[in-house]
Amino acid sequence: MKLILVEDSELIRGQLLHLLAREARIQVVGYATEEEAAVALILATAPDAVLLDLSLAPGSGLKVLERIRAGGSGARVLVLTNNTTPKLHEACMELGAAGVFDKSADADKCLAQLFSWLPPLPENESRRLEALSSVRLLDSPEQEVFDNLARLTADVTETPIALICLVDKDRQWFLSHIGLAARETSRSIAFCAHSILQNELMEVPDATLDQRFCDNPLVVGKPYIRFYAGVPLVLPSGEALGTLCVIDDHPRQLTARQRQAIKTLASSVLSEIELRRRVIYLEQEVERRRQAEAHILHLATRDPLTALPNRSMLRDRLAQHLRLALRGRGNLGVLFIDLDRFKPINDTLGHDVGDDVLVMVAERLNDCLRSSDTVGRLGGDEFAVVLPDIAGSADALLVTGKIIEALNNPIYLKGQHIHIGASIGVAMYPEHGSLGDQLLRHADLAMYQAKHSGGGRACLFSRQLSEHAEQMQGLENDLRDALVRRELLLHFQPQITLDQLSLCGVEALVRWNHPHLGLLPPDHFIPLAEERGFIDEIGRQVLDMALTQLKAWDDMGVPVPRIAVNFAPSEIRDDFAERVEAALFRHSIAPHRLELEITESMLFSDGVEPVSLLRRLRTHGVSISIDDFGVGYSSLGQIRRMPIDSLKIDRSFIKEVETSPHDLAIVKAVLTMAESLGLRVVAEGVEGEGQMALLQQVACPCVQGDFLTCALPPEEVVHWLKAFAASGD
Ligand code: C2E
Ligand code: MG
Ligand code: MG
Repeated sequence: MKLILVEDSELIRGQLLHLLAREARIQVVGYATEEEAAVALILATAPDAVLLDLSLAPGSGLKVLERIRAGGSGARVLVLTNNTTPKLHEACMELGAAGVFDKSADADKCLAQLFSWLPPLPENESRRLEALSSVRLLDSPEQEVFDNLARLTADVTETPIALICLVDKDRQWFLSHIGLAARETSRSIAFCAHSILQNELMEVPDATLDQRFCDNPLVVGKPYIRFYAGVPLVLPSGEALGTLCVIDDHPRQLTARQRQAIKTLASSVLSEIELRRRVIYLEQEVERRRQAEAHILHLATRDPLTALPNRSMLRDRLAQHLRLALRGRGNLGVLFIDLDRFKPINDTLGHDVGDDVLVMVAERLNDCLRSSDTVGRLGGDEFAVVLPDIAGSADALLVTGKIIEALNNPIYLKGQHIHIGASIGVAMYPEHGSLGDQLLRHADLAMYQAKHSGGGRACLFSRQLSEHAEQMQGLENDLRDALVRRELLLHFQPQITLDQLSLCGVEALVRWNHPHLGLLPPDHFIPLAEERGFIDEIGRQVLDMALTQLKAWDDMGVPVPRIAVNFAPSEIRDDFAERVEAALFRHSIAPHRLELEITESMLFSDGVEPVSLLRRLRTHGVSISIDDFGVGYSSLGQIRRMPIDSLKIDRSFIKEVETSPHDLAIVKAVLTMAESLGLRVVAEGVEGEGQMALLQQVACPCVQGDFLTCALPPEEVVHWLKAFAASGD
């Protein structure tokens, strides 16, 4: 309800505003403090109601009342005065006031009367408003179909005004308005606000005689309604959106035929509205489907984490660009990017941080590239880039330089700087392939090369790389078969004490009897086995063969005190200790006769798990030996805390021990350190008599090397041992 306050006291105005704020449906649209301004404001804004103070300076409230009525305003006026004499009261009522109240005593009564004019609300009001907004008719341009129906209604009912009225939250809005210029009025004075509460035609033969409407501004003022008849427009779901209504300015009634006609026309209006609803529903459905399809397409083609194209979309784009390059005889570059140091971040800081890192990497990659380039995520920490229209590999390497620099900058996340980097492989069309998958595979191979050379760099694909990869693939397949066919065997290299020249043990060294390539040394297949996940199986077979052999020597009476077996760092995890213990038990070998050779790098880089597994084995009596000691830079302090029994001085120090004072100093230092920690020492790779003599001189306890013998097949070990024993006699 639109209300105007006419009151010259600021204090009272404030109090009234405060009280009116209780009812949200009352909007105070303006106020005036003197006669002239009040009349102008009321006539200009056509409010539904006015709260009018009688004593205005300058001017008078009575005059305001008189002048607005003369101006055609029918607004309901409630007079507030300090002077409520019956005479004044009568004068006000005669001029068309709806009530006169004592300002100080009856303000509440005044407001109660005001609130009683608020339009009645249907029970389903909120649903009704939703339905109304869903037909999207409010404030729409005039439509011929509705105008024709309204015009026809006016004709058959012989009324000057026919309206299709939609009852909105605070207003009635005319979808069609025949014979009336206004397009809307306040809901609080709308006849239609009442007729939407009924299921039937509502007819008001003479509004001046109807309690509900006799003081209605539309009755008292323009357009001076006397007759009203309205049929509610009710959706099948029960919401009345508005009415089809007719209005006349003199009292009358519809004939039975006219009533029938207006009802029929109202259902036509409703059918039109329903039709629109259907169309809107269908439009929405089409839009929903379009969005769902776009979403599915997005899921199928995008990586959900980074929103980058996924593998299949990247392959698609690559194929597309290759077709263009083929037609235009252009070049194209494919980059395969793998992050360095991503796994430890994921493992130690958690997957959430890992995900954030990947998102930031995706952003940085995008920043490094042109909009015509495509960057996609292939999975995990692998990304790929397609560079169309690139002049050649030199330009592609410039791009990789930019990417490596961008990814070398630490990423700041959760209060810490995270350092990653990237290894990148580059393959070029047409030199390195003409098919998308081939280029991706070749870029992947080149990336591997970059990783193997230390990471943080880019490598260009070459034919040799692919040949090498093919060889490795062949070897991998052969190795898989070899493990099934038991093609691995062991050679043994004796270790002897230098003081008594007696055998202290043998080291088991694995060989592969390859069906075509002959006997292969471990360097040819152990690194490959580690990389492709065969090392555990090799470890199992080697330990089994070593213990079987030791048992066989025992049974033959060949005195071999201890056997040393090499293990790769990656083997020492999970159930490693149990496996070793079970093997010893199976072969009935006392634990102290087994020595495990591991490299020092493993002890210090891989956390606590391997160390605790070794500690457990050691408490059972198994010896632990550090292989290739000296090349891994472990400190005395570190060695002291580790569960170890012996050190094997790397053969690179022995090689020039006679000529290099440096190497000799290192050998002496290791011996001193080992003695103080109670560790045994074996010098590896002793090839000459001079080295032997020197090692004897510096009191190296044990030696192993080609000078004594290279690693031998088991039956030759027996001969060698006999010969060795005989030479000492
Ligand atoms: P390693 O454990 O340091 O073994 C010593 C290597 O030095 C052996 O090579 C041995 O034949 C060689 N060697 C011994 N004396 C001399 C010498 O006087 N001069 C020279 N130039 N070389 C000598 P091999 O058998 O080729 O083994 C190479 C490496 O392969 C081993 O180094 C070890 O790290 C690894 N390996 C051998 N067998 C196994 C195994 O069963 N499992 C695992 N995981 N690794 C193994
Ligand atoms: Mg070894
Ligand atoms: Mg060694």
